[in-house]
Amino acid sequence: MLAPGDRSVCRSKINKDGTLYSLAYGNPCTVHIDPIEKKPLFHFKPLSMAFSIATTGCSFRCLNCQNWEISQAKPHEVRHSELFPDAVVLQAKKSNSASIAYTYSEATTYFEYMIDTARLARQAGINNLWISNGFINKGPLLELCKVLNAANVNLKSYSDDIYRKLNGGRLQSVLNTFTTLHEQGIHFEMTNLVVPGYVDDPEMVKKMCGWILTTLGPDHPLHFLRFFPKYKLDRLAPTPLATLENFRKLAMAEGIRYVYIGNIPNHEAANTWCHNCKKLLVERLGYAIPTFNIKSGACRFCGTVIPGVWT
Ligand code: SF4
Repeated sequence: MLAPGDRSVCRSKINKDGTLYSLAYGNPCTVHIDPIEKKPLFHFKPLSMAFSIATTGCSFRCLNCQNWEISQAKPHEVRHSELFPDAVVLQAKKSNSASIAYTYSEATTYFEYMIDTARLARQAGINNLWISNGFINKGPLLELCKVLNAANVNLKSYSDDIYRKLNGGRLQSVLNTFTTLHEQGIHFEMTNLVVPGYVDDPEMVKKMCGWILTTLGPDHPLHFLRFFPKYKLDRLAPTPLATLENFRKLAMAEGIRYVYIGNIPNHEAANTWCHNCKKLLVERLGYAIPTFNIKSGACRFCGTVIPGVWT
């Protein structure tokens, strides 16, 4: 509860004389056009572009935040432009972007701006992508699901203790978000940034995979990302490649079908292989796709349906 004069934890809302105002609405501090693979979303409209916006603000306090200059700032502390929902949709159209991505900082902190934009985008035939820490109540998430096409949600660890220490967040709310997205039939992918000393325990990864399989099934892609020293963890070494490769093997041995390694250019674990016949379906070199063997949503070799939205 915010008393008059208080500011929210995410720093972008204030209680002014008893009314809650969003200072982020229509005020993006970042506007980019990105390849969708950068989100990362590997199983949703490959090679399409995402008109990407962010305002300042986040509900978490990750010690390793890559975007801390905006996620941990107040709206007036960062240069921003005025871009209201209709203008976002117009610019996305002009740039031939298939989607609008709400990304970089934490989009739940500018929920009102996001959902107004997403509703207009839906009417205009543009997809909505939510890139998030997943910390959101079920009510607003269900509202969002009505206009959402795909999401990438961070599963930062499988320990509430680590969530508190590393992220200033809580685990259960994030798990609930995955369950809701799954129940609502939204395409989503999961990202786990492997921070050395915090999130590199194979036993925890095994438990995390067990929860994913039992609750969400084997088909939602999982990305293990390499950590690079940043923000308050600038003295840690990057994640060793062997750790990422081991986690990928472990997750696949547990039964998750599509497991990727990210933040390592041109590693073969960025490619998609058919979970049935094991043949190469999508070869990724940076953001280029020189090989693509999915036809009508299925493996060109054995006809197995590949989870995702491919056209
Ligand atoms: S949730 Fe994302 S944007 Fe927010 S502090 Fe953590 S890494 Fe940064």
